[in-house]
Amino acid sequence: MPGYKLAIDGPAGSGKSTISSIIAKKLGWTHIDTGAMYRAVTLLAIEFHIDLNDEASYRFLESVQIHYDNNRIYINDRDVTEAIRTEAVTQNVSLASSFPYVRQKLVELQQIAAENGNIVMDGRDIGTVVLPHADLKIFLTANVEERAQRRYKENVKKGKQAHISQVIEDIVIRDQKDSTRKESPLRKASDAVELDTTFLTIDQVVNKIIELTDKKEINHGV
Ligand code: C5P
Repeated sequence: MPGYKLAIDGPAGSGKSTISSIIAKKLGWTHIDTGAMYRAVTLLAIEFHIDLNDEASYRFLESVQIHYDNNRIYINDRDVTEAIRTEAVTQNVSLASSFPYVRQKLVELQQIAAENGNIVMDGRDIGTVVLPHADLKIFLTANVEERAQRRYKENVKKGKQAHISQVIEDIVIRDQKDSTRKESPLRKASDAVELDTTFLTIDQVVNKIIELTDKKEINHGV
């Protein structure tokens, strides 16, 4: 696997995608948002009206292509970057991503996408399952009120209405589902560096991770 592999995991609203995207831009690396891929599967499952509880119904994945490129997510050639952010997708994505078949399919795609070049990949199981030999693993956290505030502000900016208590509830439920599922649950890899971002700005988090990346490069003699 030539190139530097940076794995960023953490719970909902911890800033993984924002931070990963900025780091990739600054360093000229490729960013892959794996959450967007699970959301794309969920969007299709809803559109196909399958029984979301039936793992075998997700076999439609055999005949579609899902890929993340340049901050956009595609199903075949269709750009679904905005469509994957609806309430319906958010509420069902933890269920869709709990199935071994779905995870196996997406992990395979993610590993192929990370094969070449310098990669920043964010998700829930990147350091533990997708890139267990990543050069640097980061586990981002923040207290739930702060994560909900961030999500709430994002929603308001996009013109979406939701009460802050509802946002907190959604985050708590999703974290609970993601960290208690049987198949590759949200978990900090034993060799990951944990960064609590509750009181840090985006710039501070970005700079801290880039600093760690530099140190790891020196350690590896790259
Ligand atoms: O990152 P984001 O919040 O968009 O992820 C949406 C959902 O996708 C998560 O709540 C989780 O259920 C699932 N996911 C996952 N494994 C990943 C990335 C996301 O199970 N690597």
